[in-house]
Amino acid sequence: HAKEHGRNRYQLYRSGLIDAVVERLDIDTRLRQALERAELTLHYQPIVALADGRVIGTEALIRWNDPEHGLMRPDVFIPHAERSGAIVPVGAWVLSEACRQAIAWHQDSPEPLSVSVNVSARQFQEPNFVGTVEQALVDSGLPPSRLQLEITEGLLLVVNINVADTLHALKRLGVRLSIDDFGTGYSSLAYLKQLPIDVLKIDRSFVAGIPERMDDAQIATTIITMAHGLGLRVVAEGIETERQVHFLREHGCDYGQGYFIARPLPEKEIARWFPKDHHWRAAQN
Ligand code: C2E
Ligand code: MG
Ligand code: MG
Ligand code: MG
Repeated sequence: HAKEHGRNRYQLYRSGLIDAVVERLDIDTRLRQALERAELTLHYQPIVALADGRVIGTEALIRWNDPEHGLMRPDVFIPHAERSGAIVPVGAWVLSEACRQAIAWHQDSPEPLSVSVNVSARQFQEPNFVGTVEQALVDSGLPPSRLQLEITEGLLLVVNINVADTLHALKRLGVRLSIDDFGTGYSSLAYLKQLPIDVLKIDRSFVAGIPERMDDAQIATTIITMAHGLGLRVVAEGIETERQVHFLREHGCDYGQGYFIARPLPEKEIARWFPKDHHWRAAQN
């Protein structure tokens, strides 16, 4: 019997299952510690109006400054945090930190700047999610309209919770809602129409093909036309070239973000990046 047991364990090891469980527990513990030890930080990427270069806000992007591994990008640890549930306290921290930072810009600048925060499916499904958002707004004093929450299309397809109810509750708080990585999922137009969404963000995989690839260009222009028809604004993410700026501007895309405009910057550098006249220079020519 013991031998049998041993063999099963061996099978589990071989299948990588135990490794995966151990890794998940480990990441979970380390992430919660990282939160306590202030090893998590937010970088901010500017978002500008493509028509005139006006800076409208930033997107907050989490980084983990691990003493062992250095600065880690979210793709490395967010999926683990989602599975283990650590995303719930981490996400609450992101919300309060981003709101606190946005109110500082808000006080310094003549123009109102908004901050966009990514929300994962697990976080969104937490019963007290709306309360967490409200708490971050109250604690910081940030006007709710200055907070934008980014959810992915995949979340709209989750059937075990009432996504629409939560979106409406968030909307009642006065926050703005956007669909991130738009075009990669399967959300139907009919469904989208019923939801209180303000913004669609064109996934950067389509932006990357502009203007050379006809299919990508076509998808992008279709999203822009459709979004405007539904009364939504459009952000193009992942803009890396001047030609992409021109194409998107010419086709009426409202806003843009990407390395060509600015990389995500640490808190200390972002205030210095903001142009004095509040406009991104390259847009003026
Ligand atoms: P996302 O929300 O779609 O964010 C855009 C990603 O594209 C960011 O990667 C950003 O650094 C990158 N990016 C921006 N401009 C360019 C460009 O011109 N070229 C290229 N190649 N990439 C560009 P990052 O910061 O590594 O974040 C990856 C993803 O992790 C995010 O994708 C988002 O889904 C998730 N994430 C980031 N922060 C958080 C957070 O606080 N909470 C949650 N739940 N997820 C987060
Ligand atoms: Mg995003
Ligand atoms: Mg995105
Ligand atoms: Mg993306």
